[in-house]
Amino acid sequence: MEYSRLDSPVQFLKGVGPRRADHLKKLNIGTARDLLYHVPRRYDDASTITRIADLKVGMDANVIGTVRSKGVLPTRKGLRIFQAVLQDESGMITASWPGQPWLDRKLREGDEVLASGPVKFFHGRQLHPREFTVVERAPRGEGAEAGGDPEAPTERRPTPRAAGTVFVSYPSTDAIPQWVLRAMFEKNLEALLAEIDGDEYLPDAVRRELSLPTLSEAFRKLHLPATPAEAEEGRRRLAFDELFFLQLVQALARHREQEEEPGIRFERTNELIRPLHESLPFTLTGAQARVLREILGDMVSDRRMNRFLQGDVGAGKTLVALFAILLAVESGWQAALMAPTEILAEQHALKLRDLLEPLELPVALLTGSVPGKAREEILESLRENRLPIVVGTHALIQDDVRFAQLGLVVVDEQHRFGVRQRMALGEHGGRRPDVLVMSATPIPRSLALTLYGELDLSILDELPPGRTPVRTLLRRPSARDEVYGGVERALAEGGQAYVVYPLVEESEDLELKAATQEYERLRTEVFPERRVGLLHGKMAADEKDRVMRDFREGELDLLVATTVIEVGIDVPNASVMVIEHAERFGLSQLHQLRGRVGRGDRESFCVLLSSAGEGSWERLKIFASTDDGFAIARADLQIRGQGDLFGAQQHGRDPLLSFADLTRDEELLLDARRLARGIVEADPELSTPAHARVSEILEARHAERLKLWKVG
Ligand code: ADP
Ligand code: MG
Repeated sequence: MEYSRLDSPVQFLKGVGPRRADHLKKLNIGTARDLLYHVPRRYDDASTITRIADLKVGMDANVIGTVRSKGVLPTRKGLRIFQAVLQDESGMITASWPGQPWLDRKLREGDEVLASGPVKFFHGRQLHPREFTVVERAPRGEGAEAGGDPEAPTERRPTPRAAGTVFVSYPSTDAIPQWVLRAMFEKNLEALLAEIDGDEYLPDAVRRELSLPTLSEAFRKLHLPATPAEAEEGRRRLAFDELFFLQLVQALARHREQEEEPGIRFERTNELIRPLHESLPFTLTGAQARVLREILGDMVSDRRMNRFLQGDVGAGKTLVALFAILLAVESGWQAALMAPTEILAEQHALKLRDLLEPLELPVALLTGSVPGKAREEILESLRENRLPIVVGTHALIQDDVRFAQLGLVVVDEQHRFGVRQRMALGEHGGRRPDVLVMSATPIPRSLALTLYGELDLSILDELPPGRTPVRTLLRRPSARDEVYGGVERALAEGGQAYVVYPLVEESEDLELKAATQEYERLRTEVFPERRVGLLHGKMAADEKDRVMRDFREGELDLLVATTVIEVGIDVPNASVMVIEHAERFGLSQLHQLRGRVGRGDRESFCVLLSSAGEGSWERLKIFASTDDGFAIARADLQIRGQGDLFGAQQHGRDPLLSFADLTRDEELLLDARRLARGIVEADPELSTPAHARVSEILEARHAERLKLWKVG
């Protein structure tokens, strides 16, 4: 990028200097531009502040006051209470923090604090802050502390008090407290804003159409808002930028994948699709019909399909995939379905064979445990185009697997296969196949578009009618015996059950021990008459498969398992699931687990055992109250936050998104996506002068991702 003063080290800004510059590194601030991009943590609207003189018992209020005196009071019961007297221009009040004596070291006399909480009656009025921030540190000398800060301003900044003023709080450190950051912005913001429009990449017309401010307006609103609403306008612009550049990387990847070389133009003869349709004992749901139109539409066009099919457990994804497979086959191409584990591949093969029985179409199964001779035969048939449909595991992408005419690849359970593996499904027989990725883990649309923006998205958001929902019960561990009684009743009726234990990676060995001990206890003490099996992640793959198979075939009544049963296992006879320490699972994970029961005719139960505190208990209650996987996924996103869900997508310390919030920026994301795709369609190399800036910023922000995708 052209040299800009914004690229110079932050140390050259006013009020910074080498020592502070060093401390700023901890906040990931190295350059002047980084300072500008330091995202405020919160805004407090000063117009919501109550004057101390006006505080009344029973109010819940925000107060700004200066610490006049402070100290720790011991009580007779041994509780230590930190108290500070806060003063503003109208009066004084005692603020009281029971059980937090350490605050005595944090707060100094002269500090100005913003505190929120109830006003109680306690030797007169007393404020009990729920939370507080120091909005202004006491200047040197006043709240005497050892040492001195040579870079500290000599004068105390007057606190803005005009109505409508907003207090901005930043992520800070001990060495760089709030007031230092505020002072830095105060001294430098104008100069930085004068430079930042040099980064502008949005034409005015586009910006206006999307109601986005210019960059300098945005940063002014972000750091110096007149109202919280204005701060939000600033954030929105910067969120757009983040989403836009991510979508741009993905649009480039998509272009590479689907437009650089033409895709297969499948021809719909209905020779196979119609008989399948006619053999079904039910009609397709509206969502299935819609999604099928999207998929078949891609396939008959001459662009390569790269589509992500999302749907809740049991929404009927396999059937949709089968129609796509039949379109490929009736046009003379081969199709492959790839699953992450052997047992899932087997299940898919069984399901497909079942559905294809009336059509008399064979389905081959290729996994690591298919023995040499049988494997050779399959490979030969694939090479010689005698085998139209194959289901398998990673075994399908070994070097010696050659297809005569591979036209379609369906990948089940996206998250187990990475970007690279999908790309390894290269060319067989002259053309790169169309790709349909299926996932049974519902995620909110905004998250799907962010994580898999290079794919087109199809959502199956409707379950076939006539399902009996799984009843979900939330119980304290003290009810365990009663729960076991319920399990025993289900087993006595010929059903099967799961008992699931969480396996937390950090303490894997301990947890494993706990699960193993519980297994022993259940086997010998609780259900001595029953056949009990154990399944956990540390077992060898063939051992796992053996246990799973025994359970599926009814050789085991009860399966004690860690989360390895999470994905896709289909045992219709299993009707009860008990989940221990339910609070340790994410909601989406619980939903996956629960999806393992209620797959047959038996009335089914999912019992969550938990000793969770109030917050987690509420979370579990949300889960117990709905079986809508997308609603649960949205709640999960809201509760856990997006950072947690990105996992491996993060590069270095950089959060993937600092301004954008996927729980509320979906519209913005769709705008960003449209713009990014439009640009790539018009100028796939980003080589026209109009896109020079876009291209520079993209390279600066996403070099790693561009490399991963081999684009740019
Ligand atoms: P998923 O793969 O999304 O978990 P499946 O494709 O395995 O779901 O479908 C679950 C069950 O529902 C299967 O037994 C399937 O035959 C049945 N099914 C699929 N579509 C419908 C429909 N439209 N109406 C009734 N049952 C359906
Ligand atoms: Mg096509």
